[in-house]
Parts: sequence; C-alpha cells; structure tokens
Amino acid sequence: MKLIQAILDDASELQQIRRKLHSHPELCFEEHLTSALVADCLAQWGIPIIRGLAGTGLVGVIKNGDSPRAVGLRADMDALSVQELNGFEHASQHAGKMHACGHDGHMAMLLGAARYLAQHRNFNGTVYLIFQPAEEGGGGARRMMEDGLFDKCPMDAVFGMHNWPGIPEGSFAVTPGPMMASSNEFEVVVCGKGAHAAQPHKSIDPIMAAIQIVQAWQSIVTRNKNPMDNAVLSVTQIHAGSATNIIPDEARIVGTVRTFQEAPLDLIQSRMEEMATHIASAFGVSVDFNFKRNYPALINHPAETAFAIGVMQSLVGEDRVDATVEPTMGAEDFAFMLQLKRGCYVFIGNGEGQHRAEGHGLGPCNLHNACYDFNDRLLPLGASYWVRLAESFLA
Ligand SMILES: [Zn+2]
Ligand SMILES: [Zn+2]
Repeated sequence: MKLIQAILDDASELQQIRRKLHSHPELCFEEHLTSALVADCLAQWGIPIIRGLAGTGLVGVIKNGDSPRAVGLRADMDALSVQELNGFEHASQHAGKMHACGHDGHMAMLLGAARYLAQHRNFNGTVYLIFQPAEEGGGGARRMMEDGLFDKCPMDAVFGMHNWPGIPEGSFAVTPGPMMASSNEFEVVVCGKGAHAAQPHKSIDPIMAAIQIVQAWQSIVTRNKNPMDNAVLSVTQIHAGSATNIIPDEARIVGTVRTFQEAPLDLIQSRMEEMATHIASAFGVSVDFNFKRNYPALINHPAETAFAIGVMQSLVGEDRVDATVEPTMGAEDFAFMLQLKRGCYVFIGNGEGQHRAEGHGLGPCNLHNACYDFNDRLLPLGASYWVRLAESFLA
C-alpha cells in the first residue's frame, strides 16, 4: 500500500478526533458540537471556512496556484437514533444516539486530508472540503445545495466515500452508473366502516381490503415491471384495530419502494395507486394514497469513476479495487449532488469487525447496528485517497 507518510504520522491524532466524534453523536441538523469540532480543526490548520449551509453544514476552502479548476470532497456528519451497545471507552455519551453508520470516520478521514492538503499544497486550483449534515433521512445534501453550495463553491466535480462492512480492510469498491437505489415511502389509509366483529355484515371491513391491496401490489414487481429493471416494493407496517371483537374503521399500510431508474419508479407508483383505488371500490372502502420520493438513485458518472478507480489502484493495487461492485438497494443523499455535478461515490472496506476495541457489544459490525464501530485503521487510507484524488484532479 502506498499511503502518505505524513498522514500515517498523524494517524493517532486522527484516531483521537474520530473517537471524540464517536462519543458525541448528534442527529440530523443538530450537529452543533460536531460542526464546531470540525471548524476548530480546520481553523487550527489555517483553512478558511464557509458556514451557514444547511444550518450546521460547513465547507473548508483550500486554494493554491491560479487555476480556476476546483474539486469537492464530501463527508457526512450525522448520527442515528440508536442506543449503543458497545462498552469501550469511546462509546456514545449521548443516550439513544450513536455514530452507527461511521460518519465519525468519514469526517476524520476528510480532516486528515484537509490538514495534509493545507500544509503541502501540491495542486493547482481549489479543494472544497464539504462537511454535510443530515444524511440519515434529512436530505442534508439537498439543503446545502438549496443554500447555494455550488454557487458559493463552484466546482468541476464532487466525490463522496462511505465505509462498507464486509468489504475487506485495505480495499475499495465502486461501479460506474447506478450504485445505490432511490428511496421512496408510501402510506395508504384504507377507510371502511367499523362494527361489532360478530356482525360483519354491518361493517365495511378495511382490513380485508388492505390485505387484498398488499397482495395485489406484489404482482407489480413480478408482472408489470420489466424484469431487466431492479426494484423493491416492501410493505413494512400494517396497522389496524384495537380489540378482538371490533372491526375497525380504517387500516394503514406503510412501506418503501426502491429502484435505480425513474421509469420503473413512475410505473410502480402509478400501478400502486390504480390497484389500491380499484380494489377499494370493489370492496366499498375508500383510500387515501400518499407516495413520497425521498432520495434519488445514486448514479456514478463514468469518467469520474474511471478517474477515482485509477487513484484507488495507485494506493492499494489493482487487485484490491472492485471496479464493478454489485449495486445496493440502500440509499444515500449524495445522489442529489451527483444529479447536478459530475462525480463519483466509492465504498472503502471496513472489514469484518475484528478491529473493534475491547468492550464491544455482542452484535455484528454492520451499518446501523448497535455494536458497529468505524475501523480506525482506515483513517490513513481514506485520507490518502482524498489527498491523491484532489492532487491528481488539480494537477
Ligand atoms: Zn446510514
Ligand atoms: Zn452512512
């Protein structure tokens, strides 16, 4: 591995920063301590800061030379509503909140790169270090863009990175084109007429209709959608009733739809509504159909992906970069940035969990698990990737 020596020398300091962030997790748009800690580090290394993007979001700016070219490197800052089960020293000190997705590590890797770039300046142009709030469902990326991210920080391309448990430590994975799915949610309320359960003929049973709707929807994925398109339609909640002897007035159906393209998403949404409406009228109930599109699919731009692959290969060798990783139906709001700017999002292997410090919980080291921990051994590799990416982009 060809890591940057100056960053390796800083590894224990980066680990301290990462663990400090881990012990003070903050949720969507509440990243005040986090944002202050990041800003302190940037200021200490003489890096100017742009604030006020999506509330707690901030951008460090490192300019060098006279080239108008610019590149953005993005890390997310928020934690999750999870009660951490790890008992090691740097475990969360905030009850019910945890860096269970490794965004603490993402910040530390970008800070490691920031420090090196500010001190060595082997590039011509501008590096924007984007620290984004509210990735976990809050759409912080979109909020930063609405607050003028790309006007205040004009850049030619933007790059993102996420740690990925199960991918070996010291490896990367990426694919051009769709890599993560769009995330969409639905809530359908079926309204009937309640009655005594012993007198069903006096009711219009919403539960019977809800069951038919849920079953019919599964045929959309197998019978309506082109088999060559990927899609998931998962009903995750059905709520109705309050007693064994009462037919309730209504039933509520909630779930998620994931796709990589707009066309199958449009199709699934419209077929869901058609089926729900027509089944409702067949059963004499009414439906209130709500469908919300949260995050778009994350689509890597081919040229920037090839460029990122070259940088990763220069660090870890060709055999440790999976350049055609299987896409995931998980979602990520960096997708919004890639809709407006060219760029690429990569996975950095977090290993299988053997890195966890003494006192970790019994569960697996998976994202969003209460026993997860970011692998500190990635810090020099991730920081080196950011540095070499910026230096090559702005060579
Ligand atoms: Zn997450
Ligand atoms: Zn995450």
